[in-house]
Amino acid sequence: MKQKSKAKKKRALKKGLKVNIRHVIALAVFFLFVAMVFVISAYHSPAPKKPASGPKTKANVVKKVAVPKAIPIMQLQKPAPNPNLKVPILMFHHIRDPKPIKDPIQHNLSVSPAKFKADLSWLKAHNYQAVTIDDLPAILNGQIKMAKKPVAITFDDGYEDNFTEAFPDLIAAGMTGNFNIITGAVGMPGYMTAEQLKAMEKAGMEFGSHTVRHLDLATLSPDRQTKELADSKTTLGKLLGREITSLCYPSGEYNVLTLAIAKQLGYRLATTTKFGYADAQSKLLELPRVRMTETSNFDALLNR
Ligand SMILES: [Zn+2]
Repeated sequence: MKQKSKAKKKRALKKGLKVNIRHVIALAVFFLFVAMVFVISAYHSPAPKKPASGPKTKANVVKKVAVPKAIPIMQLQKPAPNPNLKVPILMFHHIRDPKPIKDPIQHNLSVSPAKFKADLSWLKAHNYQAVTIDDLPAILNGQIKMAKKPVAITFDDGYEDNFTEAFPDLIAAGMTGNFNIITGAVGMPGYMTAEQLKAMEKAGMEFGSHTVRHLDLATLSPDRQTKELADSKTTLGKLLGREITSLCYPSGEYNVLTLAIAKQLGYRLATTTKFGYADAQSKLLELPRVRMTETSNFDALLNR
C-alpha cells in the first residue's frame, strides 16, 4: 500500500511539475511577446512633430518668452482677447533738462532726467510692466496674458542722451525700451553710435526703424518712400543681427502708400504721433501713442 501510494505521489508530483513547467514556459513566451511588441512599437513610433509656424500655439508663445531678454515678464494663460485692455505707448524724445532750451519745439521734446526717473517710479508703483512693441499684438489678442499692466516706452530719433540717461534708468527699473533709430544719423554728433546701440540691444532694449533721413514720408514718391523704409530696415537689421519689424513714422507723417510699402517690406508694427491707447481694435501699422513732456501727469493720463 505504502509503495503504491508513494508511486502515486511521485506520479502526481511529476504531473504537477510538468504542469508548472508548462505554466512557466507559457508565461515566459507571453512576456517575451509583450516585450517584443513594446520594442517594435517604440522603434516605429513617429518622431515628435516640430511646432508648426503660423498662428501662435501655447508652445510657440512659451518659446518666444524664453528668448533671453533682460526682463522676463509674461504669464501664460489661455488666449482670450481682452476688449477692455488699453496699452499706453509712451513717446519720449530727449532725456535732458528742458529749462535752458529756448527753441519751443526742442523744449517740448525734452524730459529732464529727474522727471524721467519719477515717471519710471510712478509706473512701477502703479503696477505697470514695460513690454516690447514686438509683443504688443500677442498681448492685445490675449495670447500673452500679463500679471501686471502693460506699457510700452518708446524713444524717437536715437539721441545720445537716450544711451547716457534713459538706458541706465530703464535697466535699474527692470524695464525695457523701444528706440526708433534714424539710421542716417547713427554716430553723428548728438546721436547714439553703432556700439551704443549694440550694447543696448544685448541688454534687452528693442529697436525700430525711424527711416534713413527723417523726411516727411507723405510728401515722397513711392520709390523714395520704399528706399527710406527698406534701407533703414536693412542697415539696422545688419547692425543688430536681427530682423527689424517695427517702424515709427517721422513726425507722424504717412499716407496709404506708406502703409502698403511698410507691409510689403515686412514691418509688422508702426507707431504714429496720434494720441491714444493701443487696444484689440488698433491697426498695427497705425498705433497711437501718448506724448511725454516735462509736465505730463500720469495720474491724469494713465490712472484711469
Ligand atoms: Zn522723429
